Amino acid sequence: MAPEPPPTAEAMATPLRMWSVMLDALPMPAALVDAQGFVLDTNRWLDVDDGEALLQPANQEVTPDLRFGVDSTSRWRVRSLDESATVLLATAEREDTGDHLLRRFFSSGDALFVVYDQRGRIIQSNAAWENLLGYSHDDVFGVDSWTLLPEEDQRLRQTVEAELRESGRSEPTFRMRTIDGSFRLVRWALQYDTSVGRCFGVGRDVTEEGRITADLERRAYTDELTSLPNRAMLLKKLDSWLEQSANPALLFCDLDHFKVVNDSLGHQTGDTLLSAFAARLDALATSNDSLVARLGGDEFVIVLRGADTDRAVEVAQEIFTGMHEPFTVLGRTLHVRMSIGIAVSSDHTPTTANALLREADSAAYEAKQLGRNRYVIFDENLRAAVDRRFNVEVGLRHALQTDRIVVHYQPMVAIPGGGIVGIEALVRWRSEGPDGEDELKGPDQFLDVAEEAGLLPAIGHIVLTEAMSTAADFARRGRTVTLSINVSAAELASGDFFDRLLHTIEDTGIDPSTLLLEITESTVLTTEAALPILDRFQAVGIRLGLDDFGTGFSSLAHLRELPIDVVKVDRSFVDDLVDDVVTRAVTGSLVDLCRALGLEVIFEGVESTEQALAVEQLGGQIVQGHLFHKPMPAPELAFRLGLASRSETLGR
Ligand code: C2E
Ligand code: MG
Ligand code: MG
Repeated sequence: MAPEPPPTAEAMATPLRMWSVMLDALPMPAALVDAQGFVLDTNRWLDVDDGEALLQPANQEVTPDLRFGVDSTSRWRVRSLDESATVLLATAEREDTGDHLLRRFFSSGDALFVVYDQRGRIIQSNAAWENLLGYSHDDVFGVDSWTLLPEEDQRLRQTVEAELRESGRSEPTFRMRTIDGSFRLVRWALQYDTSVGRCFGVGRDVTEEGRITADLERRAYTDELTSLPNRAMLLKKLDSWLEQSANPALLFCDLDHFKVVNDSLGHQTGDTLLSAFAARLDALATSNDSLVARLGGDEFVIVLRGADTDRAVEVAQEIFTGMHEPFTVLGRTLHVRMSIGIAVSSDHTPTTANALLREADSAAYEAKQLGRNRYVIFDENLRAAVDRRFNVEVGLRHALQTDRIVVHYQPMVAIPGGGIVGIEALVRWRSEGPDGEDELKGPDQFLDVAEEAGLLPAIGHIVLTEAMSTAADFARRGRTVTLSINVSAAELASGDFFDRLLHTIEDTGIDPSTLLLEITESTVLTTEAALPILDRFQAVGIRLGLDDFGTGFSSLAHLRELPIDVVKVDRSFVDDLVDDVVTRAVTGSLVDLCRALGLEVIFEGVESTEQALAVEQLGGQIVQGHLFHKPMPAPELAFRLGLASRSETLGR
């Protein structure tokens, strides 16, 4: 550090400006006066013009230890502000003197004061420099202030200097090197005075604040359990890589059956496993050009910078191999399998981080559907599936709000004879077609999406209330029929289903014994809360039917064990009944067994006379199918039930 020549007269004069700033901060009348006692500057508490004499000539003894000056009215406490004693501070004498305050403010206070010249060289510094950074005034005098910053922060110089030139002010925060080589974070308020070519600065040590901010930031971007970057960090990084056209590829890893670990071995084991998995995944994918993040739960994402599909697949395979080795968690050996969805941004025009993440997510979802423990690459087919799901969901939400979820009814008839003994409520979506015409959509076109989107309970509620008021209306008009309603697992699990049902029964006045709730075996088996609820239904007289029997589990044991009253034999049985002797024999015994157990049997999907005859021969008494009736709206049904004339039906 090359020592500067001693300050010029001009340089000596410059602190005056800084002192003027201090002066304003004093909470009492105060003035800067020259050696003759004439006012150079005053603060807002003092009503004296510049150049007016404030101190009596008698009191102008200007020495560094001059303590008091007295004018005609006030007593002034006077203190020399520079070594040559050309500038004095006069403060109205009070107990808490301005002198004291000023000293605290300028000398021994925590704030760093600096005056530097146009080339950045320090001309004035206060004692706080020594306290905070370890430099005495002599250490930094003439030193280019920017050299006290670490190199990375020196690039801010241009910005700060430009701001100072343009507006005269800048408020940068720098790290400043201390004399022992560590750093403090200092927030500066810099003011540049063109008339004297000097910059005045007040700096505050914000190291602690900075640490807290950095800590908060770290927390905001880190997953607590695994210490991996979290979703926010992932999206941030992904966004920046997409912006740089760095072609990121995503691997969305979703653990298979993690819920089982959590449920059967407890959350602590689950958490420990997740941490161990995270660490291994991180080690497997570690490189400068990748990022491993945890989205939450058992979902992890690996981002590869500049990777094409081949590279992404390679990494996926490495992960499968690397995860083959089991984990030992709290004394247990656990095997982890996962489904991986791959989305590659170089495959198509760069999308947003969120869109890419959704693609990888859907590919992982697809991998699960296909049987887990595999990877799936997001492609156009998947995009179509995702688009469909999205459009259906949006459409359904709209439909729910605009009464476009409607109910049709398919009669069940007694054979022989064909008299209507029951009706099944079947949901329909009256969607607006592209040409403005209504298009009636069946459950197979939207129930899967409704389930994923959590809309099943809302849809089910409409069906429930609508169908029950229709059936109650028919009953009031003298035609009581059994009303079948399909109940999904999601509804059973929703908790308030039973109460809503009772409520609707009360509201509509329907007789509960005319209600038949249709559930499937898989609903009963996958819904923990199902069994106790089923008992409650029966307790209030509602009957239960096992739908689609013959598909899925088809366990005869279930017929015995489940609290059911009715079995609906699936259409696939009826299809084979005419031509296939084995099916006929099996179905025959099924009917016998049901009869022995006191269960009513209904055959679904009867389309031909031959089928109807075959059912009849096996002892079937109730059928449902297109041969007799297709699903229809309520007015049409009212006509079939003899409750309305044809013209009334058409008029409705
Ligand atoms: P499901 O409960 O087994 O209903 C019988 C299905 O078979 C109905 O299809 C019906 O239109 C159809 N069907 C009846 N007779 C014949 C026939 O002779 N031939 C043929 N090919 N099909 C026949 P839909 O209305 O498309 O309903 C499909 C499934 O959607 C239902 O099967 C049921 O599981 C579900 N579903 C319908 N409405 C609701 C509802 O409101 N809530 C719930 N959770 N599920 C519903
Ligand atoms: Mg059904
Ligand atoms: Mg069925």
